[in-house]
Amino acid sequence: MTVGFSPPETARLRERLSGRLALPGEQAYDAARRVWNATHDYRPALVVQPRTTADVQAAVGFARDRELPVCVRGGGHDHAGYAVAHGALMLDLSAMATARVDPARRVAIVGGGATWGTVDEATQAAGLAVTGADVSAVGVGGATLGGGPGRLDRVLGLSCDNLLAAEIVTADAEVRWASADSHPELFWALRGGNFGAVTAFTFAVHPVGPVQLGTAICPIDRAADALGLYQQLCESGGDELFVRAGLITAPPARSSPSGCAPARWRSRPRPGSGHPPGPGPRWPSCAASHPPVPTWCGPCRTWSCSGWPTRWCPAECARSSSAASPARSAPG
Ligand SMILES: Cc1cc2nc3c(=O)[nH]c(=O)nc-3n(C[C@H](O)[C@H](O)[C@H](O)COP(=O)(O)OP(=O)(O)OC[C@H]3O[C@@H](n4cnc5c(N)ncnc54)[C@H](O)[C@@H]3O)c2cc1C
Repeated sequence: MTVGFSPPETARLRERLSGRLALPGEQAYDAARRVWNATHDYRPALVVQPRTTADVQAAVGFARDRELPVCVRGGGHDHAGYAVAHGALMLDLSAMATARVDPARRVAIVGGGATWGTVDEATQAAGLAVTGADVSAVGVGGATLGGGPGRLDRVLGLSCDNLLAAEIVTADAEVRWASADSHPELFWALRGGNFGAVTAFTFAVHPVGPVQLGTAICPIDRAADALGLYQQLCESGGDELFVRAGLITAPPARSSPSGCAPARWRSRPRPGSGHPPGPGPRWPSCAASHPPVPTWCGPCRTWSCSGWPTRWCPAECARSSSAASPARSAPG
């Protein structure tokens, strides 16, 4: 592969950055190009890890002048591996991962490389939330630019529906601020498309939570009953209830015997209704009609966890979950 730049040129780029530049052979290079779907083993020509919007501009300008393709890594959770590409200049935004909330204006300003776990922690400190994703390690960037369904979407809409503005570095290396009033067509396009490197997102946030969160696991011979109940809950549960059912071959474990059919129930308060104490009311009927193998339920402050205690959960969620649930491995 011919790479269209010389060592002195990369040295000059490195000098311009407040963030880092990583080249093949350097440790940071291999760490940055690794994405969630490990089948994508692509080797970018160089990786820039910007800390500021000016860094992103410098990197995009460098790529533009040398006709290098650019790929952008947000949370790195894309199944298709679009965050990384052979021979490209890869912008790894993981150092731009802050989330700041302005409770008075009901907005959250989020760095282009933040994950939903970071956003949940910041917004919940003020009793607020934006839709987010199922798993807290998912990037805000890819999810929002792709639409962004999540466990609160029946009440709050998609994440992109809550996007108020975006700061973006476009292919000409210019910074643009897209909103309903500024570059409105670009703003429209961003709610479902990728038109540059978004360095900051501004979201509307809403009073929510904490939610009641729980999991029920039934043996496979009760699956038909459990799915019947699932259908019933979907039809009658109201927008505040998020419920999901799945049939999986569970790993043999003390808490999850092989051949179980897990179902996960989540209920949440209507935004603004305050924090409910204790387990949600739907649990007893579920447990009574479908004796679960392990069932647990408790308050949770993140919508972006898999329903199991995981390493991504904020401390409070992990504590309340592990107190009520036997240890098991995370599926997400
Ligand atoms: C376990 C798991 C659970 C998931 N759950 C949900 C869910 O609940 N809801 C949901 O909506 N999706 C979910 N997804 C899908 C996920 O939202 C998409 O794969 C999304 O693209 C991931 O975003 P990312 O930033 O982590 O990914 P990346 O791989 O970093 O990026 C994906 C795409 O978005 C672009 N991109 C990322 N950030 C930026 C940015 N700041 N500026 C410009 N372009 C950017 C990248 O260039 C790439 O094209 C899930 C995926 C996984 C693996």
